[in-house]
Amino acid sequence: MTDACVACQGTWPRPDHFIADLGLSKVYLHDDQFFPGWTIVVFQRHATELFQLAPTERFQLIEEVSRVAKTVAEIYQAQKINYELLGNQLPHIHWHIIPRLAGDPAPLKPVWCVPHSPLLLTGTALHEAINRLGHLLRMAR
Ligand SMILES: [Zn+2]
Repeated sequence: MTDACVACQGTWPRPDHFIADLGLSKVYLHDDQFFPGWTIVVFQRHATELFQLAPTERFQLIEEVSRVAKTVAEIYQAQKINYELLGNQLPHIHWHIIPRLAGDPAPLKPVWCVPHSPLLLTGTALHEAINRLGHLLRMAR
């Protein structure tokens, strides 16, 4: 853990967007649901590069990321899943799992290049999205 890391501090992603603990990673619903089903998978300890992980850890992490992607794809009927492991702004290993759906406003572009107003879910809509993903992720074990 590093004091400067918001993922280690537990302040990002938002704790009230927590979906599931998969073992090596925790899953959260991204704040901005303009792209419905945008999910974040956060490695549970501080590491910044995949090559820093032991091979068994790396294998399990990829399995967990794949499990999240499959679940998101099923729920949101994705045409393609985008996997983003960038770390420029937050080096702590975290994946953005972004389903790209029929009717996507810019299907050939990464989501970061699509100008839009963030869509924030609240109340029942937020809880339903979290519960649906959490339920299927637990069943997929
Ligand atoms: Zn960290």
